[in-house]
Amino acid sequence: MYVCGPTVYDVPHIGHGRMALAWDVLRRYLEWTGLDVRFVSNITDIDDNIIRRANREGRSSSDVAVEFEGSWYTAMDALGVKRPTLDPHATAYVEQMVELVAGLVSAGKAYETSDGVYLSVETVPGYGLLARQPLDSLRAGARVDVDEEKRSPLDFALWKKAKPQEPTWPSPWGDGRPGWHTECVVMALDLLGEGFDLHGGGIDLAFPHHENERAQAVAAGRQFARRWTHSGHVQMGGEKMSKSLGNVRNLVDLLEVVDPRAYRLIVLQSHYRAPVEVTTSTLEQAAATLGGLDAFARRAADLPGAPADAGALERFRAAMDDDLDTPRAMAEMWSAIKASNTALDTGDDASATPLVAAVGEMAAALGLSFQGGSEAVPPEVAELLTARDAARAARDFAGADSLRARLEGLGWALEDTPRGSRIHRKDT
Ligand SMILES: [Zn+2]
Repeated sequence: MYVCGPTVYDVPHIGHGRMALAWDVLRRYLEWTGLDVRFVSNITDIDDNIIRRANREGRSSSDVAVEFEGSWYTAMDALGVKRPTLDPHATAYVEQMVELVAGLVSAGKAYETSDGVYLSVETVPGYGLLARQPLDSLRAGARVDVDEEKRSPLDFALWKKAKPQEPTWPSPWGDGRPGWHTECVVMALDLLGEGFDLHGGGIDLAFPHHENERAQAVAAGRQFARRWTHSGHVQMGGEKMSKSLGNVRNLVDLLEVVDPRAYRLIVLQSHYRAPVEVTTSTLEQAAATLGGLDAFARRAADLPGAPADAGALERFRAAMDDDLDTPRAMAEMWSAIKASNTALDTGDDASATPLVAAVGEMAAALGLSFQGGSEAVPPEVAELLTARDAARAARDFAGADSLRARLEGLGWALEDTPRGSRIHRKDT
């Protein structure tokens, strides 16, 4: 699969997180089902915004690109988004882009103007497929173009001729640089080949970016993506969000103040094509839900391993296979958790273990981690815990309560289970 990656001129914004998580969930699920996924996601390291920032700050474009590629991956790592199998950089592909453009010019599908080379969209059968509009209506809706050399306002730049203070590469049309839409089509075809399985990206990329990627492949007579998928928008809490989250302006800021798993949970609880709301309140709700998941993981931590409940997994897969219906898949996970808890409440470990194993499998398929494992407990805490267990065994409940209070005072929370007491650090 090919997923359009970032243009690295700034710190990733909050919406980038949703897009990356949506494809990470799909990839992890496909891998979980046993498929071998080749995940290609590019880095656009040359573009107007990068050049503008570089010139404004007196730096080179590559210096800007390297810095913000770094912050992209810092945020992605924090979110638990797996690194791509391959992350081609546009600047490493310019020669192949020139080749593609030259081929389109000689086939009469593209033409040169005073400022670049443009694709003639009229020559592309099915142009408008991804916009879900025929060419006529796209043309009618297009802004009146100031560029009189263009044959249609929808024609787009494959190659941009050099302007002062810009990095350039040689081409048959003079020095210049590739247009954005040309980058992805060349890298996707090079690394995945013709007729690759899936092309993804945020819904804002469907038109014109993906339309124009596809148009070039069609014009060049090459098979492109067999399926296109687009993830929905992120709706922010606007002013509410910025007020209550203080200085959160981008994804990196956000991940410093919230559990990154909360964002994944928000993404999982919505269908990938639906908009999601990332606000203080949806993040808080997700964090509370995570608390419940972690408590479940702690409760189940000591159970022996067992084969996962086949029925629960089958229902989970059916939901995921139905256009990646993660809300339904999550509902299956909740119902397995509920059934496990009911069994554990009555000491019926034999019924609980296959369900617990199924929950573990589902969480792995969704890339959701629980913080329920054993924590390092300092010796003084361990001593208090032992003393409290002894007090309970001796039915000295007043003594046990005061020891619990001391443990809580040290920042630890206690849970009493049929298998003894369990301790974990209280969330701050
Ligand atoms: Zn792209």
